[in-house]
Amino acid sequence: MVSITKMKTKEVQQEVMTPVVHLQNLWVMYEDVPALSGVNLTIMPGEFLFLLGKTGSGKSTLLKALYAGVPIADGHISVVGHDLRKLKFQDKPKLRRDLGIVFQDFKLLYDRSLYDNMEFVLRATGWKRKKKIKARISEVLSAVDLAEKMDRLPEQLSGGEQQKAVIARALLNQPKLILADEPTGNLDPETSIEILNLVKSVAKQYGAAVLFSTHDLALLEEFAEARVVQFSGGVLFED
Ligand code: ADP
Ligand code: MG
Repeated sequence: MVSITKMKTKEVQQEVMTPVVHLQNLWVMYEDVPALSGVNLTIMPGEFLFLLGKTGSGKSTLLKALYAGVPIADGHISVVGHDLRKLKFQDKPKLRRDLGIVFQDFKLLYDRSLYDNMEFVLRATGWKRKKKIKARISEVLSAVDLAEKMDRLPEQLSGGEQQKAVIARALLNQPKLILADEPTGNLDPETSIEILNLVKSVAKQYGAAVLFSTHDLALLEEFAEARVVQFSGGVLFED
């Protein structure tokens, strides 16, 4: 009995200690021009990181690299346990199921309700039972305070509410890592702070790590304890 308990503790510890992101000397090129030049980065489970950098400095490219959206030229990249340089095309959906992706321009489906937007993602990721689907959707929409608006079309929601819906969508499959690419880029300052706080709290609740790109320094003041990494010309620095 004792040894089984010990083994379990060890397994749990090991899982807790495995980074959700591990990058070593990562290079990404567009044509012959490097967009990421030897990036090193480790993100541990549950960590929150701000990713700073001017337009064109490489923020979106890094996030794309993490969800296997751009080819890797060189280096090591592992994300939620997947070695992306060995990832087979057919295993991409499996990787993406472990990630929650939040875009600046939402990328909701505008021809259907909020509920149907969520159902679409669940069905595309293998969920079949109607009852389970319904329960899951109402859970994530409640987490972002949108349960009462689930029958609305995206255009019947404010920008802030649409971004909350995108956050709910990102939570559907219990992600270990949330990738947010300038999620507050189209929102007013007050709503931006609200969205930051929402991402912070749901990530904590779900035990997800977060990489949150922004050029809005006011948000950093709002969450001064967060780790900050900064791009300059494709090179990543840590403060
Ligand atoms: P950021 O998100 O920080 O604004 P990006 O990662 O989008 O920066 O871009 C980094 C660099 O890579 C920029 O110089 C940009 O012009 C270039 N770039 C981005 N996407 C492409 C692409 N699909 N083809 C060619 N160059 C690109
Ligand atoms: Mg960008």
